[in-house]
Amino acid sequence: MKEYGILLENVDLKEYNTYGIGGKAKYLIMPTSIERLAGLLKKLKQEKIPWYILGKGSNVILPDEDFDGCIIKLDKLNKITIKNDIITAASGIVLGKFAAELLKEGYTNYASLIGIPGLLGGAIVGNAGAYKVAIFDYLIDVTVMDELGNIKTLKKEEINYSYRNTEFKKTKTIILQASFKGIKGDVKKSQEEIKENLTKRKNTQPLEYKNAGSVFKNSLNAAAGYLIENSGLKDYTIGGAKVSNKHANFIINYNNATSKDIKKLIEYIKEKVKEKYNEELVLEQIIVNWENHGKKSKKENK
Ligand SMILES: Cc1cc2nc3c(=O)[nH]c(=O)nc-3n(C[C@H](O)[C@H](O)[C@H](O)COP(=O)(O)OP(=O)(O)OC[C@H]3O[C@@H](n4cnc5c(N)ncnc54)[C@H](O)[C@@H]3O)c2cc1C
Repeated sequence: MKEYGILLENVDLKEYNTYGIGGKAKYLIMPTSIERLAGLLKKLKQEKIPWYILGKGSNVILPDEDFDGCIIKLDKLNKITIKNDIITAASGIVLGKFAAELLKEGYTNYASLIGIPGLLGGAIVGNAGAYKVAIFDYLIDVTVMDELGNIKTLKKEEINYSYRNTEFKKTKTIILQASFKGIKGDVKKSQEEIKENLTKRKNTQPLEYKNAGSVFKNSLNAAAGYLIENSGLKDYTIGGAKVSNKHANFIINYNNATSKDIKKLIEYIKEKVKEKYNEELVLEQIIVNWENHGKKSKKENK
């Protein structure tokens, strides 16, 4: 498979997600061109090797079980071009770099996304956002590849999306690139705001521990953190996973947490918040099951 990109074998996935959890993957590959990505998909299909696409792993709860398949990462496909107020960026660009490149050219509309630690592709899948700006706000279109390597471009109007959600969360569609409107603004003011936002994140989020951002979506009625904190759950611990004391909508990997610990804690939080507020918390993070990605985990094969 080396001909398709940078190939690693028997990879510890703990190194590839911000919770620092997960088993091993048989292969991890970073394709070095779109053509090679298409070739890789063909090869994986021929060989019946299951695959899963991962960005920075900052919004996922990976399973503890090993994955007898191939993790695809698009970090090497990260080109950005800006022309006539239209930005076209490949999905492997780091989101912070994407926003910083825009700022360099005077476009301030995505500055508030600096501080979200993912790649552009992952941000599109989850419609990531912060401080009242979400990635879909200025999006024009998304170019995607299907499992067979076919490419098409979808206009924003053709895509189902909402707060921290898109149809891509449920499909095997690969995001290749997207284009966006650039809006010029006061760069100095934006830089000040970025500084303030980053300080705010540092003061209110448990960045000193491994975590994957907000666990639950905020509901129309209340912020998830408020509901969890007022259900008395700050510091509540299951195994190595703990509800952060700094921000109750964050679960931290406090002490060698497993995926199972985190999922159990999620269920416990949901139950307690439902009991106290009759409110169904909706998960923002994505629980990954290898069974949904080709039904092959090492445990299963034993
Ligand atoms: C400290 C911290 C703070 C955070 N703050 C915020 C915040 O303010 N706002 C916010 O919205 N989020 C926040 N997050 C969550 C997370 O960073 C974002 O959701 C981010 O956009 C996820 O990107 P990723 O590359 O890490 O995606 P991953 O977690 O790697 O993947 C997420 C999903 O997208 C899929 N995927 C990834 N790339 C592609 C692709 N190219 N094609 C198809 N599918 C793909 C994966 O299969 C997975 O289903 C935070 C996380 C952390 C750890």
